[in-house]
Amino acid sequence: MYECSLERMSDKIKTFSKYGDAGHGGITRYALSEADIMARDEFVKRMTAIGATIETDDLANMYATIPGSDPNAKRIMMGSHCDSVKNGGNYDGILGVMSAMEVLETVTAENIPHKHPLTATIFTNEEGSEFPPCMMCSGAMAHDYMPERFRDNFAYDKMMASESIVEPGMTFGKKLSTFKYKGDKANRMSPEKVEALFETHIEQGPILEDAGKDIGVVTCVLGQMLYRVKFYGFAAHAGTFPMKKRHDAFHAAAEALCYLHEEIDKLGYEDLVYTTGEVVIHPDVNTVIPDFFDFSIDVRHEDPEVLNKVREILFSLEKREWQQCKCEVVLGWNRDTVYWNKTLVNYVRDAVEDLGYSHMDIHSGAGHDAQYISYMVPTTMIFAQSEKGLSHCEPEHTSDEICTKAASVMLNAVLKLDENGGL
Ligand SMILES: [Zn+2]
Repeated sequence: MYECSLERMSDKIKTFSKYGDAGHGGITRYALSEADIMARDEFVKRMTAIGATIETDDLANMYATIPGSDPNAKRIMMGSHCDSVKNGGNYDGILGVMSAMEVLETVTAENIPHKHPLTATIFTNEEGSEFPPCMMCSGAMAHDYMPERFRDNFAYDKMMASESIVEPGMTFGKKLSTFKYKGDKANRMSPEKVEALFETHIEQGPILEDAGKDIGVVTCVLGQMLYRVKFYGFAAHAGTFPMKKRHDAFHAAAEALCYLHEEIDKLGYEDLVYTTGEVVIHPDVNTVIPDFFDFSIDVRHEDPEVLNKVREILFSLEKREWQQCKCEVVLGWNRDTVYWNKTLVNYVRDAVEDLGYSHMDIHSGAGHDAQYISYMVPTTMIFAQSEKGLSHCEPEHTSDEICTKAASVMLNAVLKLDENGGL
């Protein structure tokens, strides 16, 4: 078994944390920003130093490749994203890039024999912090391979037209056109060129830490559905209109939301998660009874039958009146559970067992680049324990030791795939 270098990994963590340093322990590194360029410069510097060939595609996804002994073998790819949310941490995304770099560095430093070319990758704009949607460029690249019903969400022209939420008038396409690392479409990854993708990522939840495990062998990304629940009443003066005659849309929504929680909890699924994180109120004036209220509900579970049960509860809201208001439930979007390639998952599990690190099987509640890439080439993921389960915030932390362990697991899983001659 091979192990990656703690010293080299620690140095990368320290160095990348400088690019977009927000001054209080975390980073703000939006895609295509100056900080993004600095992180990519560092990637190029370190990968060139080990003799890797650097390529970039038209979406500014980057590929650093070292050759294998078989000139006809497809590449084994590893990677993630290097952009962050506003005031994010030093690990989400970039750990997957640093681990991929670390694997290539270890293979080079220790002269580890391998047949397949090995590629470390950066996917552009995973967070969608400035230019939505999330996982934009892995989605755009996998567009032709996706199920038809959500393919349109990642149409190239639509991505290029995505408007900046911080700079009025700026679009993703416009910013990309002058970006230092925009390259050729011919360099995009494809099933003809790539055997498989491994993505290492922080867990972003507390499950591994609570179980006392360092490494998660990820089996799937949870199915997810988003609904909007809308209530229609009428507006009237807050001081003159009697309580009994009101059709208060906010009061209706509040009552319905409590009912939803009670009914969904009665289903008794401990691993079912659901969240109301966004509301719209109209007219949003403190002296007017609201005539409209709309809340989001995001629901995630592996089993589509469980999601169906929640869907039934949601639609049952429409059959009742809430504070004399009409209720309407509207689908935002949904996606099925995405299962990783079973052979790759087994290679990861074998690798972590051989290395003797503490581990468990786990699913991902969050979306990742690997999820869309999996429509195009076989993929899998490795999770590193997140301290206190925190992510998308500055205290986000994973120890240098666990980061190195995660890279070592990926290295050995990649070598198992390499040795067995592909999938
Ligand atoms: Zn991420």
